[in-house]
Amino acid sequence: MRHFIAVSAIALAAGSAGAQEIAQADSDWYKAGQERIQAELAKTQNTNKARNVILFVADGNGVASNYMNRLYAGQMEGGMGDDYVQPQEAFPYLALVKTYNINAQTPDSAPTAGAMNTGVKQRFNLINLGENAIHGDCAKVSGNELTLFSELMTEAGKSVGAVTTARLTHATPAAVYAKTANRNWEDSVPEGCTAQADIATQMIDAMEAGTLDVALGGGARYFVPKGMGTPNGGTGHRPDDVNLIDRAKGLGIQFVHDKAGLDAAADNAPILGFWSDSHASYEADRPETEPSLADMTAKAIEALSTNENGFYLEIEAGRVDHANHATNAKRAMIDGKAFADAVALADEMTDDADTLIIVTADHEHAVAMNGYCGRGTPIDGLCFDVAKQGIEHSDELVLADDGKPFTVVGYLNGASSVMVKQDDGRFTAPDGRPEITQEQAQDLDYNQQVLIPKDSESHSGVDVALYAKGPWAHLFDGTIEQNVIFHVMNYATNAN
Ligand SMILES: [Zn+2]
Repeated sequence: MRHFIAVSAIALAAGSAGAQEIAQADSDWYKAGQERIQAELAKTQNTNKARNVILFVADGNGVASNYMNRLYAGQMEGGMGDDYVQPQEAFPYLALVKTYNINAQTPDSAPTAGAMNTGVKQRFNLINLGENAIHGDCAKVSGNELTLFSELMTEAGKSVGAVTTARLTHATPAAVYAKTANRNWEDSVPEGCTAQADIATQMIDAMEAGTLDVALGGGARYFVPKGMGTPNGGTGHRPDDVNLIDRAKGLGIQFVHDKAGLDAAADNAPILGFWSDSHASYEADRPETEPSLADMTAKAIEALSTNENGFYLEIEAGRVDHANHATNAKRAMIDGKAFADAVALADEMTDDADTLIIVTADHEHAVAMNGYCGRGTPIDGLCFDVAKQGIEHSDELVLADDGKPFTVVGYLNGASSVMVKQDDGRFTAPDGRPEITQEQAQDLDYNQQVLIPKDSESHSGVDVALYAKGPWAHLFDGTIEQNVIFHVMNYATNAN
């Protein structure tokens, strides 16, 4: 046995020198595999203290969603897509993340983001309250508030930012600064509830306390009283008479409501930006006056970098989740590409020596890929057959047993079910599955065919990937619980 191991080690060490007996040694695939080994051997661990931490969360972007984003981005560049490498996929370290909540096999975005921001798993639909809190129960708030990573970072002299394409009071960004028994208490709490404020009020409280310095995203309506105009052209939603935007301005916080304003904002002061009354636009629909996720990322990094002690910045691609809920795979992929662009920019603007960048998702969706499609089959369209010769798919569509084609991307449940409600109230598909043409399938507004009828497609409990680089990124390894993410961020910023 000992002898066998020694011989194997020599063969490995010899690399291509021993490859003359391997028939496929000249294959590009073989050589790329050898190069990968060399790259792994050359890896060194970064044990610097992390000055900055950037936590990227593409909401609802699990391994399957990430796969379709990869193929979409690669095909947009004219390739087949499979071999395309998204910026985060070139990061040196990877873990798989278990996303369940304390009491939920299928998680929601509140406790998942909360787990990343506090180091403990949380309960379904709650944000940053301990395991004894109860959903919607104000009486259980006191005594169950958890300490936030943003609070620890503020104590360490760092600045904090939250950037999102969703509402700033939505679950993922709220987990940076808020503690609430109900993720939906965005602009009000039940009558008589004094143990906590609504999430919007908590956000401005955090900006006043200095535990949140940059907040960019959507959701102005929750910061403006009912009936009053918002800076984004709509009307406010708050049942109280408090104008939180005016309050923020009174605190000296720069307020901006479009891309021009964001570009013009000074870097060295707190910034609050809303681009919309509710969620910001899908990337596919975004007007030029609205900043992209990459635009927000750049400004947030510039502003937070003026603090020489460093910063913690959470950046969410919130609308990947919404497009998946709508079984609108194309918009999900386009937002996935915008997310990857923001990751690339953040990586470019920061130094691996002092900045830990984590790219992950909070949970996956009930999305899956159908087969068997040939190489280069458009990921946003119908499944084309594998060609016997060459590489690219044949011109033949793959047909299901009903003789009809199907899209590569499918969802298990959602509003676009093939089971349609009939006049008698029953859900059936009397004419079978609808025919789909490639033109229909590739339309921006196409909703994938779905089995189980549900007004909004659901999340799934499947693991998500986590990619990391920078100080202590190597602590991400194997299959981990979601709350471990906090512990790596906390260790990296306190090391040495
Ligand atoms: Zn969701």
